[in-house]
Amino acid sequence: MMTNSHHFDELCSKVRFCTRCPRMDESARVLSRAAGPLNAPIMFIGEAPGRLGADASEIPFHGDKAGHNFEDLLEFSGLDRSRIFVTNAALCNPKDIDGNNSTPTKVEIQNCSSYLREQIELVNPKIVVTLGAVALNAVAQIAPHGLDVSTGVRTSNNWNGRILIPLYHPGSRAMIHRSMANQRSDYQFVTEQLNRISAGRRRVTGHTRSKVAALAHALISAKGSVSYFALHKLVFLVEWQAWSTVGHSLTNAFFIRQKDGPYCTDLHLAKLRKALSALIVEGPSTHPILQLSQRGLFETAQQSTLPQEALDIVNRIVLSTNGLTDAELKTKVYMSTPMRSLLRAERTQLLNLYNAPISFETLQNKASAITT
Ligand code: SF4
Repeated sequence: MMTNSHHFDELCSKVRFCTRCPRMDESARVLSRAAGPLNAPIMFIGEAPGRLGADASEIPFHGDKAGHNFEDLLEFSGLDRSRIFVTNAALCNPKDIDGNNSTPTKVEIQNCSSYLREQIELVNPKIVVTLGAVALNAVAQIAPHGLDVSTGVRTSNNWNGRILIPLYHPGSRAMIHRSMANQRSDYQFVTEQLNRISAGRRRVTGHTRSKVAALAHALISAKGSVSYFALHKLVFLVEWQAWSTVGHSLTNAFFIRQKDGPYCTDLHLAKLRKALSALIVEGPSTHPILQLSQRGLFETAQQSTLPQEALDIVNRIVLSTNGLTDAELKTKVYMSTPMRSLLRAERTQLLNLYNAPISFETLQNKASAITT
């Protein structure tokens, strides 16, 4: 029986002698083991090799400006080239009459489509990431998806038995439409999706610590219903308000910086379910909405573990955030001193603080309370 490696080597040979596109005669056929491991869980698909990049190096996305950007983005988000497979919708560099890079035509993409399909079938990645509109349209020829880059960027979509994430191309031209800062967040999103898939259905042990559970209970109860996304932000705002006004944390909740702001590790949904028996979770798994059952609304045992001082802060935060959408709440959180300080460090020192703990202690002295 032919192994994946043999099959791939055969495909590379086929591509090496391919003459389907006349204007690619002088270009390298960029498909080899340099694309990445054949069992990679994730496949990145670009448009076509660049003249100064893959056409010269024969390593996809390597050697030119787009390649440098791509490799920087991978490094920033903790993705290792040794774990990913990288290819292009057209495997050869299309040049215009002056010898400069050009966009592959629809016919050229169509010509190369069977090779792309074979690569996807062979590698069988759990996640396919398309870089730019040409790549996104190219995978639609393999299985339709109805997506476009501007509205579908940084979203996770079921496609062809796997997840499809459309991103912008990392070349300089695309940076006009999608800044490097936004592209960094896009790649962090990809890493997050990959980690989620790799974690699989790992059993979650433990439950939310009682003080954090009590705070979550108080917030859900006061709000009536709240998105899981918002709950993390509200707990963060309450804790920061406590630090900046009474000088100590209410619960010892632990926050880390994620793509969409602070994430409280104690609020892992499986743990929270165990801690709050009255918790009702509804809505799509990508955007769960939390409520308490009638029994839970009148349950005072968990609320009573919060002192009046804490309940006053909860009420202040609830009042100041009433009517805010999740996006507006996120903005409010980003305006808080800890987040502004962290974003400044990322910007000025070019640090990757993704998944870094968010500490209030270092900020306590210079705290100016958030506007509530
Ligand atoms: S772009 Fe694809 S189809 Fe066209 S010549 Fe190169 S390998 Fe063949």
